[in-house]
Amino acid sequence: MSDLLIKSLGFKNSARIYLTLTTESVNYIGDKLQYFPSALDALGQTMSIATIMGGTLKKDETVTIRVEGDGPIGKIIVDADAYGHIKGYAQNPHVHLENNNQTLNVESTIGTKGTITVIKDLHLKEPFIGYSPILGSGLAKDFAYYFNISEQTPTAIMLGCTIDTDSRAISSGGLMIQLLPNTKDEIIDEIESIIKSLPPLSEMLASGYSLYDILHNIDKDALILEETPVEYKCNCSKDRFAKGILSLGSKEIKDIIDKDGFADTVCHFCSNKYHFDKSDLEALYNEALIKEENKSKS
Ligand code: ZN
Repeated sequence: MSDLLIKSLGFKNSARIYLTLTTESVNYIGDKLQYFPSALDALGQTMSIATIMGGTLKKDETVTIRVEGDGPIGKIIVDADAYGHIKGYAQNPHVHLENNNQTLNVESTIGTKGTITVIKDLHLKEPFIGYSPILGSGLAKDFAYYFNISEQTPTAIMLGCTIDTDSRAISSGGLMIQLLPNTKDEIIDEIESIIKSLPPLSEMLASGYSLYDILHNIDKDALILEETPVEYKCNCSKDRFAKGILSLGSKEIKDIIDKDGFADTVCHFCSNKYHFDKSDLEALYNEALIKEENKSKS
């Protein structure tokens, strides 16, 4: 099954049920940047929740999730949009921690203290920014807490990654069940008991359940509203990095020209490299000078 996001409405139109599979996207970036298993698990889970949050957006809106714990992986940053595009990276992909029973220790990889930041660009004057603590018992609980507290929407989250010893994801996915306003108590009770009865998501996915099977197990009458293919997509370009260099200002660009005579930049999200030779840098230097002159005039 290819990467996918399913948006559905269940429990007599009382709850959103969103499910995603992100295995191929996780392996795409995992292979490219040679992630170690527990780091890939942490990134994969963040990519799955980002895909789901992307699914809650309208077209052209974007969401960025930053998971900043005190663990050795450092920052995890994932971007998603409403079209199923995701990209993400972890600061230190070469982290691997196991529990005593040889399962991956994602909690310690991320850390047990820290902050989750959700930044949504909704094309308003200011972006929406929500914060939530890392509680230390898994990203699914952290993000459920985020939705319940920061967005005041009762939400259950399941995230699951199964990574093999070659550091490839056998499966990676996520599930969100979110109550719509005015849901009756008996339906809330029903949803809670179904969530409790479900096996871990990683187990279901790794044993071959499709997203449709899982949805059917949650609510066989759920109505599928939309199915969106999910794809790892980085929109970096030399031009974007040129803007970054330009923002350093003429003095700093001049320093680079004098010191190195070139600049090599690497995209964190896809590891593409962009080389700026001396003439590229000189053009940017001149552009920066003009900009600064115009600024001082105005
Ligand atoms: Zn890139």
